[in-house]
Amino acid sequence: MMYEPVIGLEIHIQLKTKSKMFCGCRAHDSAISPNTHVCPICLGHPGVLPVPNEQAIRYGVLVGLALNCQIANHSKFDRKNYFYPDLPKAYQISQFDLPIAEKGHLDIEIPGGEREAARIGITRAHLEEDAAKSFHHEDGNTFVDFNRGGTPLVEIVTEPDFRSPREANIFLHELRLIARYLGVSDADMEKGHLRCDANISLRRYDDKGNLVGPHFNPKTEVKNLNSFKHVERALEHEIQRQTKLWEADTPPLTSTTRGWNDAKGVTEDQRSKEDAADYRYFPEPDIPPLKLKDLADELRSQIPELPAARRARFASEYKLKPSDAKQICEDPALADFVEHVFSELHAWMNALPEMDELAGEALEKEQAKLARTVSGWLLSKLGGLLSERSIDIRIMKITPENFAEFITLIATHKLNNAGGLKVLSAMLDDGSDPSHIMEDQQLGRMDDEGALSEIVSRVVEEYPAEVARYRAGEKQLLKFLIGMVMKASEGTADAAMAQNLLLVLLEPEIDN
Ligand code: ADP
Ligand code: ZN
Ligand code: MG
Repeated sequence: MMYEPVIGLEIHIQLKTKSKMFCGCRAHDSAISPNTHVCPICLGHPGVLPVPNEQAIRYGVLVGLALNCQIANHSKFDRKNYFYPDLPKAYQISQFDLPIAEKGHLDIEIPGGEREAARIGITRAHLEEDAAKSFHHEDGNTFVDFNRGGTPLVEIVTEPDFRSPREANIFLHELRLIARYLGVSDADMEKGHLRCDANISLRRYDDKGNLVGPHFNPKTEVKNLNSFKHVERALEHEIQRQTKLWEADTPPLTSTTRGWNDAKGVTEDQRSKEDAADYRYFPEPDIPPLKLKDLADELRSQIPELPAARRARFASEYKLKPSDAKQICEDPALADFVEHVFSELHAWMNALPEMDELAGEALEKEQAKLARTVSGWLLSKLGGLLSERSIDIRIMKITPENFAEFITLIATHKLNNAGGLKVLSAMLDDGSDPSHIMEDQQLGRMDDEGALSEIVSRVVEEYPAEVARYRAGEKQLLKFLIGMVMKASEGTADAAMAQNLLLVLLEPEIDN
């Protein structure tokens, strides 16, 4: 018997609006002291009137569009009733049967997975308000901070279309990136901007791959997962726990709600799940229905290029390796930088006389070579320097123009790797341009034959044993000797020229 995980996610994203969902209070900011951004509306005083935040509605519709949803022509808010200290009105304003968006999908790629790609159905996306935040003090008291109460949220519900915890994780990463590209949320899980409930059940297949029993079995909902790692670990744990139940012939008979205990690495039973009936949903009488058609038409034309499209374009237009394009597009600011660098580089390349005859495949080959140079220097070298010095690309002093110029110096062999690193590091210090730094620090490649010959002769004198062994047939020692020349020239020697000069001394006969 084989057990296949069936997973669906419910995700809350805090929208980055200036004010709260239904009042004028400044939206949640964890840096301020508790209970300062509150008013009679978000504290649930009687007789107050909520007014929906237009920016939050726009953000919600943008999310719906980015997830390929149908945007409702008519939508409305509903009251979801339940009692908890973090909900002063004793109901949450949410959306029940007419969410702003429905029936969408998001495609994900699962490199190395059992399936390489999957289309995840989006059941719906709706707007609601966040609850306040409870702090359970060690003395047994619970404190409530109402600053968060009323923060706009978009809740996204997926179809049960994930087949592994990793797929769920990849989806969440993609969703986070989309929120960032749209500018609707920083979607930082650690900061609680993005929170996830994960639903999971198992279904059985026999050895021939035929489904045994129903397509869908009662599920477990694991609540309030607030890091990518927790989502994956909680789901892995549930797969093990439910598999044991199935194997013991005591499969889950009803759907349940559990919580993730990260310290113990287990999910734990929570209160049994309320039904929609328990929430006694009814239309919010104080807010008129929403007509979204015009807004959807307006926003459809404003959707920026989303991560998947941008990755594909970076690969095809700039000839970047798909994995490099993916890494670059993980950060919109880095992607913007790269875009700028390539527009400079392609202009430079097109102006080169030797490019005139190049077309088709030959041109693409040159572009791919340039792209490899860019990604090598950008992702590993510059990336390394930035993380070493904790510099964010957004405040980095290197301009795209200067980085492009730097790449041309590397590509035309005016600067070698060792010199390149020094120049890059100096560029990062003060933002100066690479040719000036090269001149100042005399980092140009040593291709002056006279100066290099001297170094080569010195190396041959200093390593008589190696030279003798080379002459006796140990040809691999040439590499060692070239290495010594590079070292003596502090990495500035032209390796090809060094090799030629060495061969002249080591094997005088090749001159004849
Ligand atoms: P509930 O009645 O608990 O609200 P829903 O049908 O609204 O359940 O689904 C909530 C989430 O659970 C969705 O993300 C959905 O994809 C997922 N889900 C529904 N049924 C299952 C199942 N049998 N196994 C796993 N996930 C499921
Ligand atoms: Zn308020
Ligand atoms: Mg539901």
